[in-house]
Amino acid sequence: MATQICVHCDFPGDGNCSVCHGRGSIAGNQVPAASVALVESLSCPACGGNGHCQACAGLGEVEVGGEGD
Ligand SMILES: [Zn+2]
Ligand SMILES: [Zn+2]
Repeated sequence: MATQICVHCDFPGDGNCSVCHGRGSIAGNQVPAASVALVESLSCPACGGNGHCQACAGLGEVEVGGEGD
């Protein structure tokens, strides 16, 4: 089993949610149009407010099973 840098983080490998940049909340001006009704800071819908990249759970790396290549 090997790991590789998670490219889904805010910055690859930093483990931060790319939507809220690891803050766990997003400001009004960053809310997607569909949620524009919520203008104040609110929990990030991508990470649920914990600020962690959901692809790697905040670890910054993901396991690769050796499939494929
Ligand atoms: Zn990640
Ligand atoms: Zn987030």
